[in-house]
Amino acid sequence: MNGVIHAPATRPVPIPIREILPWAAFAGVLALLLIYFIGAEQGATALILGHYVHEFVHDGRHLLAFPCH
Ligand SMILES: [Zn+2]
Repeated sequence: MNGVIHAPATRPVPIPIREILPWAAFAGVLALLLIYFIGAEQGATALILGHYVHEFVHDGRHLLAFPCH
């Protein structure tokens, strides 16, 4: 078995950057929105009236070490 090299049966298909970029931008915006709602909404800033978002993400803020109150 020495000297035997196994070549993969299939080769990975390269994905062009042009096809990845819009999805990467979408995922980035989604991640920023999620970080904003978990980290700051109804804490330092408030876009939505009331306390529902704060109550929903409160434990997550403490878990992720975001300042809450
Ligand atoms: Zn809180």
